[in-house]
Amino acid sequence: MAKINMKTPLVEIDGDEMTRVLWGIIKEKLLLPFIDLKTEYYDLGLKNRDDTNDEVTVKSAEAIKKYGVGVKCATITANAARQKEYDLKYLLPSPNATIRAILDGTVFRKPISVKRIQPSVSTWKKPIVIGRHAYGDVYKAAEMEINEPGKVELVYTKLDGTERRMIVADFKGSGIVQGMHNLDESIKSFARACFLYAIADKIPLWFATKDTISKTYDGRFKDIFNEIYETEFKDKCKSAGIEYFYTLIDDAVARVVKSEGGFLWACKNYDGDVQSDMIASAAGSLAMMTSVLVSPTGVFEYEAAHGTVQQHYYRWQKGEKTSTNPAALIFAWSGALLKRAELDNLPELANFSKKLENAVLSTIEDGIMTGDLAKLADPPPVKILNSWEFIDVIAERLK
Ligand code: NAP
Ligand code: MG
Repeated sequence: MAKINMKTPLVEIDGDEMTRVLWGIIKEKLLLPFIDLKTEYYDLGLKNRDDTNDEVTVKSAEAIKKYGVGVKCATITANAARQKEYDLKYLLPSPNATIRAILDGTVFRKPISVKRIQPSVSTWKKPIVIGRHAYGDVYKAAEMEINEPGKVELVYTKLDGTERRMIVADFKGSGIVQGMHNLDESIKSFARACFLYAIADKIPLWFATKDTISKTYDGRFKDIFNEIYETEFKDKCKSAGIEYFYTLIDDAVARVVKSEGGFLWACKNYDGDVQSDMIASAAGSLAMMTSVLVSPTGVFEYEAAHGTVQQHYYRWQKGEKTSTNPAALIFAWSGALLKRAELDNLPELANFSKKLENAVLSTIEDGIMTGDLAKLADPPPVKILNSWEFIDVIAERLK
């Protein structure tokens, strides 16, 4: 069988633990037999990030900027326990935060819907897409421990040396303090990315913050969204027949669980982090959530929304063939290949990517699935497979 050609390399970012194990099998069984796969490979496994003083992470983001499309495996975010486990020189920053900061993009997360898996929220008929702002707030915050009484102030020093000050807290005892920021340009890009996504998918756009409490900070988010809507997208939304809707974050949460889905929910960075896990879990399984980072310059990074599935990895190390669901990882590859196909005008590659997704969906819809889905399937599963067997069935269908 002749292999499908590629033109431009895809930036391939390898990662950690169970997802790294699955990454290799997906390539071997589902990609390499069919595609003359061209990738530029970056190893973001924790050890290599440590060995390169995290330069590899920065280089991988620069490569995505250069080529336009990347696909990323899940990676460990280092913490004290991981530092010990991997004997790290220092506590490396989160690779996703580093890449997002360099690409200044918006992350869109969408559950993969399949017939046999009903969401736990019975009113949801269509997928809810989360648009997560990927810059700033608590992810780029300065934090301090306060161990004795004293005053903490916000000090803004202008270029001419003049200052503005504001008291954050007058500590009488110990405590904690945090300073965070965002940038108008980044919020504008976020708003534009969300309107463009909503219009392309012809789904309404919801946005919510806590501007009643955070009048200046969250208020700015609300105002910028409104300004971008009024000046750039009002007519386009009308022609697409979609609505822009703003509300408070707590009201949005209450409405979401009573909705029938089928909209894009734009969330600030932290809200998006939390709500995407809620949506993923309620829509079925964390393993069925896809994620794509879209930068304002039009570059794309595809990944699964879940982490490295640490506990499965430890069981795999002991020799168990775990039933870890590879669906979102496969969709990261198919999404990236499809985007590459669109940019390079490769209809055969586009066609392959759709067939790959259909092979995954039809397998699950026929009742053949991994353990995480088996608990949710209605009608119940016909066969519960480990990851290796499951990928083999998909490969067989692809052939
Ligand atoms: P996780 O890897 O997402 O896994 C949490 C739990 O969700 C698992 O224990 C498993 O539940 C279930 N799960 C997730 N993906 C699954 C899959 N594909 N198939 C079956 N079950 C799945 O989150 P974590 O264990 O909290 O984090 C592990 C590491 O991932 C951490 O070091 C974290 O820093 C990193 N992380 C990376 C990313 C990223 O790179 N994008 C995102 C999040 C977390 P059961 O145990 O019940 O089977
Ligand atoms: Mg998260």
